[in-house]
Amino acid sequence: MFDAAIALRHRLHQRPCLSGAEAATADQIGAFLLPLRPDQLITGLGGHGLAAVFAGAAPGPCILLRCELDALPIQELGGQGHCSQIAGVGHQCGHDGHMAILAAVAQSLARQRPRNGRVVLLFQPAEETGDGAAAVVADPRFAPLQPDYCFALHNVPGYPLGQLLLRDGPFSCASRGMAINLHGTTAHAAQPESGLSPASAMCRIIAELGDLPAAVRGEDSILFATVVGAKLGEKAFGTAPGQASVWATLRSQSDAGMQRLLTHAEALVRDAADQFGLRAEIAYQDVFPATANSDQAMAILRRAAGSQAVLELPQPFRWSEDFGHFTARFPGAMFGIGAGEHSPDLHNPDYDFPDQLIPIASSLFLQIVSQALDTPP
Ligand SMILES: [Zn+2]
Ligand SMILES: [Zn+2]
Repeated sequence: MFDAAIALRHRLHQRPCLSGAEAATADQIGAFLLPLRPDQLITGLGGHGLAAVFAGAAPGPCILLRCELDALPIQELGGQGHCSQIAGVGHQCGHDGHMAILAAVAQSLARQRPRNGRVVLLFQPAEETGDGAAAVVADPRFAPLQPDYCFALHNVPGYPLGQLLLRDGPFSCASRGMAINLHGTTAHAAQPESGLSPASAMCRIIAELGDLPAAVRGEDSILFATVVGAKLGEKAFGTAPGQASVWATLRSQSDAGMQRLLTHAEALVRDAADQFGLRAEIAYQDVFPATANSDQAMAILRRAAGSQAVLELPQPFRWSEDFGHFTARFPGAMFGIGAGEHSPDLHNPDYDFPDQLIPIASSLFLQIVSQALDTPP
């Protein structure tokens, strides 16, 4: 019964696409969905996204289920028959599996539409860069699809296969890349006093960024800054440096915590630049909001899980997810599903999504759909 969805995953796995360039993946998904005759099939949503709508005969709530189209710039190291055929690109986050799960849900909904309400199956582009969810939400063609509830899952290695991982409130962290550029003046290395080196300011920023979280933690148990790289001048022995860069990733479990962290980090940079008479520039990239689960959506999810054993996560995941753009606007929940205790980690070159999760997760999604559509918004 799940042969077609599993075969689809293997085809997607063999032809992975990078964030924002998922045309070939979108074509494969479109070709799978079209014969299922959804009531609406929207393509090119927020980039290469697709949305398939299955409507019931009577009006009712709208529920959105989301999966992701994109793969990673990783060279796969796997011995599987369906190994990536695209050099340097691989599905090591398991988004191929997430797509196959929603494809199986689409097959079920095509056989039996919901009694009432609508189901939107969203195949979202560019999750890994943090751009896709925001682009979908901003696309005018998304407006008629605005859901009463939204749900998404992520496979999580390190937990038993199929284990449900739930959390009330914050599910995954907000994060953003901070690129700091310090501008001084270069000089001959024999006369460094006639220039303005950013070396001391750079060292101060690197040292003090790591100490910021203690000062601004507040209610967030997870809140920290990681310096991921830095560069001072050039390997030119005749020149004293005039430029420096520091790159750091800021992370917190709430958007409010991120805002506090940003305010303090920017003040530190300005202060260090002023201390040494430098000009500082700050830019951000890979910006992810926190994903926060709503009580209403969690109640639906728990009813759908029924009597199956769930693991309540004591802390949010430290990684980030752009599904937070949906949970910030609509009652929603994201949950984890174990990918096996001995599985390689996500984003590792030998990671491959376990096909056994496709029937488990698609039947859970169908349970969520029936629980949500029976719940007035
Ligand atoms: Zn990922
Ligand atoms: Zn992922």
